[in-house]
This record gives sequence, structure tokens and C-alpha cells, in this order.
Amino acid sequence: MSYDTQPKASHFIDGAYVEDTSGVPIPVIFPATGKQIATVYAATPAIVDQALASAHRAQRQWAAMSGTERGRILRRAADMMRDRNHDLSVLETYDTGKPYQETIAVDATSGADALEYFGGLAGSLTGEHIQLGEDWVYTRREPLGVCVGIGAWNYPTQIACWKGAPALACGNAMVFKPSEMTPLCALKVAEILHEAGLPAGIYNVVQGLGEVGASLVTDPRVAKVSLTGSVPTGKKVYAAAAAQMKHVTMELGGKSPLIIFDDADLDNAVGGAILANFYSSGQVCSNGTRVFVHEGIKEAFLKRLTERLSNAVIGDPMDEATNFGPMVSEKQMKIVLDYIEKGENEGARLVTGGKRLNRDGFYLQPTVFADVTDDMIIAREEIFGPVMAVLDFSSEEEAITRANATEFGLSAGVFTRDLSRGHRVIAQLEAGSCFINSYNDAPVEAPFGGTKMSGVGRENSKAAINHYSQLKSVYVRMGDVEAPY
Ligand code: NAD
Repeated sequence: MSYDTQPKASHFIDGAYVEDTSGVPIPVIFPATGKQIATVYAATPAIVDQALASAHRAQRQWAAMSGTERGRILRRAADMMRDRNHDLSVLETYDTGKPYQETIAVDATSGADALEYFGGLAGSLTGEHIQLGEDWVYTRREPLGVCVGIGAWNYPTQIACWKGAPALACGNAMVFKPSEMTPLCALKVAEILHEAGLPAGIYNVVQGLGEVGASLVTDPRVAKVSLTGSVPTGKKVYAAAAAQMKHVTMELGGKSPLIIFDDADLDNAVGGAILANFYSSGQVCSNGTRVFVHEGIKEAFLKRLTERLSNAVIGDPMDEATNFGPMVSEKQMKIVLDYIEKGENEGARLVTGGKRLNRDGFYLQPTVFADVTDDMIIAREEIFGPVMAVLDFSSEEEAITRANATEFGLSAGVFTRDLSRGHRVIAQLEAGSCFINSYNDAPVEAPFGGTKMSGVGRENSKAAINHYSQLKSVYVRMGDVEAPY
């Protein structure tokens, strides 16, 4: 392998790489081969303390800079990420197994978008003036302090930036813990931010499993926790943060509905369903994995879907022609295979796929089940793999009721040519990030996040500013004070 995947050290603290091999070793596995490509070590309590202490020490000075100065550094980092997109994308592919064809288009570029967008906003963050007769109130938008970011494994560069960019724009410092499955990319984000001029201590990366995440969440120096992960982890992290009244952003899992009406453009709807289920081998939180297809077009939809899926190029993710890669890990592959077996046992019709590929690495076929009913496990639980469940429906009202009958509420989509129906249906779906005649677009300008068990708070857009800052309100009396005695 010509590309060096072993990072200089496991952690990035106070502006420099830091190693401590006394922590638990974490092997980094290339999912396309199953071979180990690097080793990092979980943070010991001393490393966690070093990272939090450096963030705590540096934060006030960073907050004292003007927003324009802070923003300039973030925007410089964005440019550097774009210049290095190739290398960052290769690393993302080694870290996750996602095809280079995807990573070159999506990962470092969307991270750069976040740095550019929040870098641009940083200079415009203000409070307001409220006149009350002669007296007045003004508000100050202040940073929270030290923020902890904890990442999932599916978009390691993007998550490191989606959390870091708004946090830093608002004048906070961050300690970021990547997923133990994909520890490499966040280190590069930290390196680039510092090369762009970020003061030491403002963006730190520590490695580790859940217990390292838990120790960050409960540290009294931490003011806010932003987690991207599963609902069970979210419940634990939210509860731990609540015990110390900390701010949270929770970006959690989903089982999102995609409703396809019989007047939809069939090829667009099939394309939407493919994007909603098979991009990143199905390892996307907002995926529309419950595809409700009007009974009148169900067979035509399945036929076209199967035809188009046969064109998926499955193979070496480094090959630019490959557009469908392996699962992130053997463990995740087994979880998904287990769900496929459950689907078959529950009587769903396997339309295509369903098998592991006979090659090295953790490859599964894109899999479609039809005749899925609402009570089946594959229609209720998040699988987080390339498994689409197709359910049929006959009326709009029925589709909405069934789409909402879930504890999750991350995303939802509708395909129809009827403009009023599109808006009417989306308005009734219980989800945070929705799509009409499209699926899984996530531009930095749009708020992203879930309702119900899928999360709390929003990432991206101006809305994220509210989750990384707080308002201080100051009453100013211009006249004498009237006291009762
Ligand atoms: P996970 O919940 O297993 O782990 C997420 C992160 O939390 C990891 O870094 C892990 O080490 C850490 N963690 C685990 N236990 C912890 C604890 N007790 N305290 C603190 N940190 C702890 O999730 P995963 O398997 O890495 O990722 C897949 C999940 O993430 C899916 O459910 C997916 O839907 C979700 N996800 C959500 C979004 C979103 O934006 N809504 C995006 C990507 C992934």
C-alpha cells in the first residue's frame, strides 16, 4: 500500500499529535480487505484530562477574538480541505470502506462546506437591542465553553466538521472523540485547522471506545455534548448530560418512511429509493428504509428497481468505477445478515440480494424485500445496512398514519407529481429532515436533525448557532432606582 494510513499519533491535543501507548489498542481495519491498516490507542484518563485542560485553558482567548478573525481561520481551513480533497478522500475510504467515487464528492467537501459556512457566519453573530421606554435590554450571544463532540463511523470527516465548525465559530473549544471504528479522519481535520491558524487547544481529538466518551460527557469542565450515534447510546449520553444540566445535540438513528404515490415519475422515484437505501452501503442515518409504494405501481417499481440495482458496481472502493462498497466492519455485516434472515423468516419476499459476497472484506449485496408488513422486525428496527423494505398502501391517509407509526422521526420523503399533495403529506409526517421528489440531500444551509427518538437539536444552517451559544440578557436602567424601602 503506497498510502500511509498510520497516523503520526493517536490523539491531537493542544495543537500537537500526542501518543500514549498505555491505552487500549484499537486496530483500524480496511473494510474492503479485512486487513489491519493502522493502530491507535484509546485515551487514558490522563490523556482525557490533558485534552479537556487544554480546551478549557484556550477557550476564553479564542472567544475574545472577533468573529471575523475566528471565521477567517475556519475559511482558510475549508480551502485547505478542498485542496487536499484527494488525499482526505482516500483516507476516508480506508477508514470506512466507502467508495472513493462517494468520498471524493461528499466527505471532505461537505466538511469544507461547514467550515466555510460557519466561518462566514462567525462575524455576524450578534445579540439584540430591546428598547423599553427610557430603559433598555441588550442581549449578548456568548459561547458555551468546552464542547464535546462524539462521532459515529459512517461519516468521520463530515461529523468532525459538522460539530467543530459551528462550535468554533461561536467561540467554543472542542474535544472530539471519533468512533473507534473510524479513528483516522478527525485527526486530519485537527491538523488542517491548526495549519490554518487555529490556536492550540481549541480543537482536540482523543480516541477511545464508549467509556472514553462517557468520561468526557461527565467531566464538569464540559458545557455541551453533541453526539452522532444510535438511540440506545443517545439515551445514555443525554441522561448523563442532564445530570449536570449540560446542553446537548443528539443526532440519532431512524427508520424513515419514503412514500411513493402512483402519479410519481417512476424513474425518479426509483432513483430516490436507491439514494435512500444504498448510498454508503445503506449506512446513513436518514435513510428512507420503509418504502411505501402505492399498490397500483408496486410491481412496475420493483421491476425497474431490480434492473437498476443490477448496474451497481460492487468492488474495490479505491477503484473510481466502484459505486457500492463493503460494510464498515465484520460486526455490522453480521448484524445486517441477521436482519436479512429475520426478514425471510417473517415471510417478506426477497426480491433481490440477501447474500454476503464471496470475496475478502465485508461485502453484502444490495437487498430488497417486498410485501413487508408494519409489524415485521425489518420494518420496525434500524438495520443500518443495504436493506430496503417495500410496503404497499392504497390511500394517502393510510400511508401517513403508517409512516408515523414509529418511535423514530429523523427523515421522510414523498414522491408525487401533485404539488399540493407533496406539501400536504410532508406537513403531516413526523420527521425533522424531509424531502419532496428527492432524498438524502444535506446542504449545510439547511437545518438537519430529528424529532421523537431520533434526536434533539439541529446541525447545519443558522439553527446550529442556537445550539452552540447562549444568550445573556442585560437590563440597563437609565433613571433612578425605585425601591419600596
Ligand atoms: P453508537 O451509538 O454505537 O456509537 C456512537 C459513538 O458513541 C461512538 O463514538 C461510541 O464510541 C460512542 N459511545 C458509545 N457509548 C457511549 C457512552 N456511554 N457515552 C459516550 N459515548 C459513547 O453508533 P454507531 O454504531 O457508531 O453509529 C451508527 C448509529 O449512528 C446509527 O444508529 C445511525 O443512525 C446513527 N447516526 C446518526 C446520524 C444523525 O445525524 N442523525 C448520523 C450518522 C449516524
